[in-house]
Amino acid sequence: MIAQHVSAADLVGCRYRQIQRLNHPEVPRTRAAAMRQARSTAARAAVHARLPVRAALGDRRRFLRIDLPPVQFDEDPFHVELATLEALAAQADLITGAVFTGVSEGTAWRVDVDLLVRRPDDTYMPVMISNHRVARADDRSTTPVIATGRLGLGVPVEGAFRLRHHVADGYRLAFAARALADIGLDSGMGGAIGQDRSRAFLAPTAPLQPALDAALNAEPPTGPRRVKECATCRFRPLCEADLRASDDISLYLSGDRARDFRTRGINTVAGLIDADLGQASELAAAWREGTVLLRRGDTVTAPATDVEIDVDMEAYLDQGAYLWGAYDGESYHPFVTWIPLGGDAEAENFARFWHWLMDRRARAYAEGRTFAAYCWSNNGENHWLKMSARRFGGRVFGDVTVPGEAEVQAFIGGDEWIDVFKLVRAQLVGPSGLGLKVVAPEAGYTWSDGDFDGEESVNARRISRGSDAAAMQAREQLLRYNEDDCRATAAVRHWLRAGAPGTPRLGG
Ligand code: SF4
Repeated sequence: MIAQHVSAADLVGCRYRQIQRLNHPEVPRTRAAAMRQARSTAARAAVHARLPVRAALGDRRRFLRIDLPPVQFDEDPFHVELATLEALAAQADLITGAVFTGVSEGTAWRVDVDLLVRRPDDTYMPVMISNHRVARADDRSTTPVIATGRLGLGVPVEGAFRLRHHVADGYRLAFAARALADIGLDSGMGGAIGQDRSRAFLAPTAPLQPALDAALNAEPPTGPRRVKECATCRFRPLCEADLRASDDISLYLSGDRARDFRTRGINTVAGLIDADLGQASELAAAWREGTVLLRRGDTVTAPATDVEIDVDMEAYLDQGAYLWGAYDGESYHPFVTWIPLGGDAEAENFARFWHWLMDRRARAYAEGRTFAAYCWSNNGENHWLKMSARRFGGRVFGDVTVPGEAEVQAFIGGDEWIDVFKLVRAQLVGPSGLGLKVVAPEAGYTWSDGDFDGEESVNARRISRGSDAAAMQAREQLLRYNEDDCRATAAVRHWLRAGAPGTPRLGG
């Protein structure tokens, strides 16, 4: 039974997904899952392009690389597993696309191993490719590292990096190490190649095994429970129907947010409302009635300045910020680059945005007017303002110069940089949270691309780097998305300033 193999991904997040997958194989994958798959395939292709194909001059040795054909998770892996064993028997130095299956704690599993790398003692090291950031530069840590182009040929060196753990990657390496141990070829080491495609970071695999055992031993769930990942899960309509039928408390409080209530025997929304637990019961009742926001106090307000700019930034993974958008109450001003991040294009784009913003401020001062820039939840903006200054500070592009970190820090630490989300959080509560997509519609703002979210934006940015019609469309969409977020932030500010009309008072 092919479909009954558990994968590492099945052990992360909602465990009910695997049960639904077995019971409803007919439900097609979502677009988000297909896009995620496309990103993984692109990551693998980028790494494969860097892998060695032959020994380099000076290696003075044979080098055998065997590429096994890809096999989907719902296909029978028997032939590829057999080919994996044959490639190991042939003592290939590098094997791509290996597959192992096994049984642990009574559970049949399968692991797809991106790379198997032969070590000098003829054991093998599994290496996983992902889009995660798997290590961070850190002068106080050392981690064995090997260049992707030397896998199967070179030896690792110690690098000043600290590993970042990702649960699914850890399970995959632990499964692969188990399979290799079964045939006496486990090296005890595993590797990960993440967003930096040029290097594999290595670590022992033994510490990964207890977590895998715990995951395999966990009791399987008997029914659905709403969690964050439901939003993009293909089984959502099926699970939602079950949750509604039982009035499960997770309909209102997802994930672990209802844990305390469950331990008190409250498992339904009605149970929470009836429990008369003050604000918790009141918010549950508001949720049931469809009330989106409640005021904490009698009044709601927001600061006002003569010149107001709403800012929103878009970054791509941890590579850099490609779009700084600003709305001045009349027009939207995008500062954008579509070429790969990390170089002059990103630096100049940032410098032009900063110059524009500071020019607006200087003009306001010259006219004797007050100024502030506003942002919705400015953690991401603060990070990329500082990082952009740190990486590019002082570079000159014609009439603009990238600001230094001190200049940026002075601005974001001052009172002319205002986080609108903080204003909202201090004055309102919402049974469905206080995201911009929740609050702005209450302020009368609607988005042009209703369901375009953060993950879609990452996909669109990947596509936008091309030069075809799809790339142009993705660029337009990203600009629209950014403009919408700027305008929505402005709408929320004005609405707060008007006292958040139509919002009932908590406890009122
Ligand atoms: S919809 Fe939610 S509960 Fe159902 S399988 Fe998917 S993630 Fe799990």
